[in-house]
Amino acid sequence: MIHNVHLPALTRERLTDVVVLQIWLLFYAASNSTLAQIDCGDRLNRCHRFRGRGDKIARWIWQAPESRLKPLQDFAQDSTPIIDKRKWVKQLACEAFRLLKKPNGTLEALDNQTRTPWQKVASDFLIGFYENVLREAGSPRKRNPGFPAYIFSGKNPSSFGAQDFLTAFQAANPTLFICPACDESKYSTKAGSIKTDIDHYLPKSKYPHLACHPYNLVPSCPACNQRIKKTSDPLTCQKTSLGTRRKLEDIFCLYRESGLWNKTYLEVSPKSQNISTQIGSLKAKRGLNIGDRIDALQETYRIPERWSEQVNEIEPYVYRKIEALLNAFDVSADDSQMLLDCFDYSLSTDYIEERGQNPYSIARAWLLAALINEAEEVLQTSSISQVKSSALLKELQIRLGNGTNENFLQESSTSNLFNKDKARSRIENARQVRRIIKNNGYIDTFMESNNK
Ligand SMILES: [Zn+2]
Repeated sequence: MIHNVHLPALTRERLTDVVVLQIWLLFYAASNSTLAQIDCGDRLNRCHRFRGRGDKIARWIWQAPESRLKPLQDFAQDSTPIIDKRKWVKQLACEAFRLLKKPNGTLEALDNQTRTPWQKVASDFLIGFYENVLREAGSPRKRNPGFPAYIFSGKNPSSFGAQDFLTAFQAANPTLFICPACDESKYSTKAGSIKTDIDHYLPKSKYPHLACHPYNLVPSCPACNQRIKKTSDPLTCQKTSLGTRRKLEDIFCLYRESGLWNKTYLEVSPKSQNISTQIGSLKAKRGLNIGDRIDALQETYRIPERWSEQVNEIEPYVYRKIEALLNAFDVSADDSQMLLDCFDYSLSTDYIEERGQNPYSIARAWLLAALINEAEEVLQTSSISQVKSSALLKELQIRLGNGTNENFLQESSTSNLFNKDKARSRIENARQVRRIIKNNGYIDTFMESNNK
């Protein structure tokens, strides 16, 4: 994930109950060849987490003969020895609880070709919970009522479905309006409506026991979910020289760590003469061993490759912003340092205020930083202030391209909107970012000190 995502306490609580219930029911079906509603309810009532609600929960299972009861019964009736079925369910339980507590080690992916018939019906049962309840994001409650309140433990149980998931996510991530995986599409508005796909980070086809897992579900844009990622598995390593499987600690763990934006820098070459802007790779912050995470992001979501394909959208925004800035601020044409300060201020606001709010803020910030570095170099090659500024303006004219008002600096407003002193800390921070690019380094204290 490019952006930070926080897991709402409500989602963690509700979906943990769902995962525990699913595993419990599979154990029950692995141990009994015939299933009976009353017996199932009685046994659930003996389980601490579901005490007092067992009858209702059993009725809920029996109320959905096709999606819930039948696959569970098929699993129970399969002639495979109980010990084998229980061993397999135990493995699923261990993996699901590991992801809840401390994600590490390997997960076993279920292969469509090699899975047994009883593993298939168990998978259908597990995935069925997701299909019935969380699939239709934003659909009316009548069609998508969610899990009933009596499924849940805790003091204030309430029903829980797709819209509850999305509303809770937005409340826990109030400044994020862009798909956290790609930084490419808006999926939410400031008015508060959020309607988007709920994506499985680890695909449910290979990890059916994680189909409703709180640490495996994240709102993503339709491009990521339906077109790019689909069922690709971050734990499958495409560089076979490194082995075919990644461990959990080798991939970005959803909700557990900050987004990759503050652990990486983006290689960008601004356009010059006839060569258009080139967006290269995401590179790890120096000293951080996150090469696998970056590879997994590229292989799963095609980031930053997708940014490179959208450079024609990313680039004009950056140039227009510089132009607007120069028009708005009363900067004298012969004050080259003031010009640079303006640019750095713009870089700083781009990076802090627009991050997660408008598409491509990360790529735009790195492009802008690279651009200012080049302009600064022009300044350093001349010694007289007036010559310096002329050279910088000429350089900018090349960057800004056709259709730009050539006199934008001369036409700037007379009010001094740009208060250098107030903007000082931001300018200094932006300069740090630019130094990172120059030194082929990384974002460091810049983001940490301005995160709030
Ligand atoms: Zn996306």
